[in-house]
Amino acid sequence: MNLNELTIQEARDGLDKKEFTSVELTQACLDRIHDRNEEINAFITVTDELALEEARKADEMIARGEQKMLTGIPYSVKDAICTLDVRSTASAKILDNYIPPFDATVIRKIREQGAVLVGKTNCDAFGHGASNEQSMYGPVKNPHDTSKVAGGSSGGAAASVADHQCLFAIAEDTGGSIRQPAALCGVYGIRPSYGRNSRYGIMPMASSFDTVGPMAKTASDIAIVMEVMAGVDAKDATTVPEDVPVYSEELQNADFNMQNIRIGVPKEYFEIEGLDPEVKEAIEEKITSLENAGATIVPVSLPHTKYAIPVYYIAVPSEDSSNLGRIDGIRYGVQADMENLYNTYAHSRAHGFPEEVKRRIMVGTYALSAGYYDAYYRKAQQVRTLIMQDFDTVFQDVDVLITPTSPFPAFGIGEKKDDVIAMYLADVFVSPGAVAGIPGISVPAGNTKAGLPIGLQIMGPRMGESKILQVANVL
Ligand code: GLN
Repeated sequence: MNLNELTIQEARDGLDKKEFTSVELTQACLDRIHDRNEEINAFITVTDELALEEARKADEMIARGEQKMLTGIPYSVKDAICTLDVRSTASAKILDNYIPPFDATVIRKIREQGAVLVGKTNCDAFGHGASNEQSMYGPVKNPHDTSKVAGGSSGGAAASVADHQCLFAIAEDTGGSIRQPAALCGVYGIRPSYGRNSRYGIMPMASSFDTVGPMAKTASDIAIVMEVMAGVDAKDATTVPEDVPVYSEELQNADFNMQNIRIGVPKEYFEIEGLDPEVKEAIEEKITSLENAGATIVPVSLPHTKYAIPVYYIAVPSEDSSNLGRIDGIRYGVQADMENLYNTYAHSRAHGFPEEVKRRIMVGTYALSAGYYDAYYRKAQQVRTLIMQDFDTVFQDVDVLITPTSPFPAFGIGEKKDDVIAMYLADVFVSPGAVAGIPGISVPAGNTKAGLPIGLQIMGPRMGESKILQVANVL
């Protein structure tokens, strides 16, 4: 087995037993990236020099016996997350030259452990999309079938893990961007509860939805990275000042017993038009296997599910149109050289943003404008509360919910690109949890006959990451 194919846990063991060094492990990942990037296009920036320098430092920490869980482990970071002195474009040309003078809080915590950054991953620009085709650096190809999309918006992150170009990835999920590409590429990916991880340094898309979390090859690797990232941060007032469980220990918790777990299966998620029969069958099989392992399966209803996409695609663009105001070619990014200020703004933004970003800005500006605010934005907020209440009600009766992550496996590159509504419908199972601010993890659940990965989603109540990780680990 090649070193780049190891899980975090296996690499930790090997590094601690001095079977190989972090420099060797890092070089294996960098070699894989350079072999594959032309085709897969997972990375926008590869940080060879920085990675080898961090790997050497990690080897020294290990030699001194000062290693932590992530010391010497190579990882990637989505390009919409700020990394100190490393270009961060958010996959939009307007930030082509942006080099942040600071690390996002979650990245600072990972770096302090001595992990090794191998590069910045491609995504839909500013996180807007579900296929990675809205990147201004070209689409990411699915490592399982390069004629298919990798999903989005964090397609590069998912492909970087699935294709063994690094051991874990850090990405952002506003409305599915970790879970959906994880499903389409066959890896694990968690969207934590809103407020669990600091958003400081995550380029804001929709501030009341944005979350940041890991993708990895196993549930226990996800637990390891989550316990490093999570926790209150003075730089993000929405982080929750609660103790963070030691997730990796929770997975070993002897009190956890499937016999005590009640799994809700929401009927609305299985009645949706366009649900691929192979996906449905795979998820139902997994639910049966959990029942055989002792869990109680409870049919439940989340009656407002059908409003999640409309609410999401009003509320998110509204917040977006405001957040993206700062990306104007003056304060950040590439500035068009025009004769006056207005034309400089207009030209920088017209050429620096892809189509979907412009669409969101226009929809959001419209929804917030006087006269339409009550009909759209306010109404969306009211329905958002109803969706939250649906979840609050079912979680009084069940521990977790199980659904498909995506209604279909990876689709063809170009297939949905010009059909905006079809693309939005890819989020049908991941947007409700985002609207409610609850955690969800996508777990690999086998492949279609054509060999494309299928993802199963486990959702839990707010701050209920331990339970969903425990069930993911059993699966
Ligand atoms: N598909 C979603 C969207 O386009 C995903 C966004 C995200 O989670 N960043 O809004």
